[in-house]
Amino acid sequence: MKTKKLTGINKRKLMIFGGVFVVIIAVLVVAVVTSTKQIGKNEKAADETALTKLDEENVAVKEVEEKTEEKEETSEESSKKSSGKVSDNGGNCTTGSFGNLMLINPNFTVTTNWIANRKTQLISVSKKYGIKEGKSSNGDNLMDAEAAKHLNEMLSDYSKEYAGHTMVTRSCFRQVGTSCGRLCAKTGTSDHHTGLTCDLVDPEYGTNLDTSEYKNHKEWQWLRANSYKYGFIDRFPEAWAGGSMSEPLNVDANGSTGLFETWHFRYVGITAATEIATGKYNNGKYDSLEHYLKQIGKVSDLKNGKC
Ligand SMILES: [Zn+2]
Repeated sequence: MKTKKLTGINKRKLMIFGGVFVVIIAVLVVAVVTSTKQIGKNEKAADETALTKLDEENVAVKEVEEKTEEKEETSEESSKKSSGKVSDNGGNCTTGSFGNLMLINPNFTVTTNWIANRKTQLISVSKKYGIKEGKSSNGDNLMDAEAAKHLNEMLSDYSKEYAGHTMVTRSCFRQVGTSCGRLCAKTGTSDHHTGLTCDLVDPEYGTNLDTSEYKNHKEWQWLRANSYKYGFIDRFPEAWAGGSMSEPLNVDANGSTGLFETWHFRYVGITAATEIATGKYNNGKYDSLEHYLKQIGKVSDLKNGKC
């Protein structure tokens, strides 16, 4: 009975406590859920902020990269502009497609970049064939491989004909021009940039490169008469020097070279050399490379450097 009574009271109490407990739990659950949601929101917001920041940083990095690229392009373009033309022929219409007939002179100039690149295409005639450089002002004695092979044949035949005589070079390729007036060409205008040319001398006849000593230099006379058989020409004959022997250089529209050098021989290949030496387009007289190129229609304007 006592127990029954107590049970009755306890039941009511329990119901009240139970009700309160359920309410408390419900309130707690709601509170927890709400706060969790808020934390999630906060985290998301924080994440979003971080992402935005990261994006901004990425954009900033990208912008810097793009600016750098633009800068590189600009400096490349400006270097191209400063080199004269955007093409890789060094600003000279003959160097890209003329091969052994390329023309470099005060009207058909090349850039220093082109000259530096040309150097990498050449071989040493000293190392390959033992041809000595008489005055090693330029050091490497470099030449185009095909021209060098023909140079070696030519000098070997000279030595056979003149026993005990050996021709040496006074530089072949030159990266830098010279500025000593009539007999020289400044950087960008020299035939020595072609890699197809050598100044030649037989020291037995003297080492001065002086046209007034021509009579004594049997090797220059021999070269003038025979070099075309090996594909070489007397590049600057007296008849084509043009005008008086003083500055300015007389490189005219008709084919004058402006230079007179009895020691300067240029490889153009046997066919062209034969036509130039025998004057096919010059009434049987020794031609100039300039005049020859005009006559065969490869260049249109010798004065303004146009093909
Ligand atoms: Zn020369």
